[in-house]
Amino acid sequence: MAASSLPEPGGDEFQALCRVISGEQIKSFLHRLEEVLFKPIRFEDSEVLPGASLGVAIWPDHASDKEALINNADLAMYRAKADPGRHPCFYEPSMDEKVRTRRKLAVDLRQAVKAGQLAVCYQVQRVIATGEIRGYEALVRWNHPTRGTIMPDDFIPLAEESDLILQIGEWVLRTVCSEAVLWRQPYKVAVNLSGMQFVHTDIAHVVSTVLKETGLPPERLELELTESTIIADQVRALQVLRQIKDMGVSLALDDFGTGYSSLDTLRRFPFDRIKIDRSFFGASRASHQTQAVVHAVLALGKAFEIPVMAEGIETKDQLTMLNAAGCDEAQGFLLGRPAPLADIVKNGQITMNCAH
Ligand code: C2E
Ligand code: CA
Ligand code: CA
Repeated sequence: MAASSLPEPGGDEFQALCRVISGEQIKSFLHRLEEVLFKPIRFEDSEVLPGASLGVAIWPDHASDKEALINNADLAMYRAKADPGRHPCFYEPSMDEKVRTRRKLAVDLRQAVKAGQLAVCYQVQRVIATGEIRGYEALVRWNHPTRGTIMPDDFIPLAEESDLILQIGEWVLRTVCSEAVLWRQPYKVAVNLSGMQFVHTDIAHVVSTVLKETGLPPERLELELTESTIIADQVRALQVLRQIKDMGVSLALDDFGTGYSSLDTLRRFPFDRIKIDRSFFGASRASHQTQAVVHAVLALGKAFEIPVMAEGIETKDQLTMLNAAGCDEAQGFLLGRPAPLADIVKNGQITMNCAH
């Protein structure tokens, strides 16, 4: 039995090997490991609760040689990391398949930008009280040559594992700015930023270059970021966000209510808009829960004088409730699904000044 990676375990990965002949022995070995790894550590007045993800592969059931055994324990460990419900996680042959598919997708993704397989859809954002259009959020799609359309949740995390996200992020920004500058209606365009773009590039410089190259007035651009993007290095984040704001670009705090939802974030960072996460409007939420969240976020928005937008609005009842609660703006399938620019032009919401 082994837990960790091949050929050498990383700094926070360890291998443990044990000869076993019965399921009971495996259980007791895992129990011993967990007892040690999960033991609380007292430090001065506080207590630290350590944790670990355990992946298990058994010889000869799961592998015929040492390398494969360690490799398969590693696969199981990654699965345990991703899915806390499967802990400890035993190797299954389907894990190989998943990893192979993922690796193949990562290779394809590297080609996707060059091959022009990425596309941007736009989803309308409206003022609730009047129904007027406030702007559009740009959402990337991957038109894979054999798999069809792949949604961002299935490839953005993959892109974030390498520098690809920087390329993709800049491509989306440049595409959106160069398209929006041609619209006759000066709607705002919102572009999602990945935390990696924040950490690994001079994002303020990238934004300013793209605005200059495309000619889009900065006031028309909004960048959407989540709290997790800024939480790691708050001092630097504040500096970068100020630079972006100074250009005239606005900032939206995305997915609010899911992560830290910290009052401090709202107090310290210069956000122009709070977006209540779409999960609060999902079918599984009881309506009194949704209402409580909406009222709480609206109260925060009022206190900090930041307008609030609700995401994922699918029903008239939700819109009526938001209107009654005094929510400023909304986005969701009820108001318009994400669509290619050509479709939005066809339905008359946007007219183009001229074509390139
Ligand atoms: P997000 O920023 O929260 O984007 C909103 C997501 O909600 C979009 O999913 C949109 O299609 C979906 N949505 C909108 N209205 C409704 C609704 O009424 N009901 C439901 N159930 N869903 C609705 P999408 O396009 O699949 O994007 C998923 C996520 O991928 C985005 O979540 C964003 O985090 C990320 N993403 C998309 N485009 C980009 C991009 O260009 N760069 C980066 N870094 N991330 C992106
Ligand atoms: Ca967003
Ligand atoms: Ca969101």
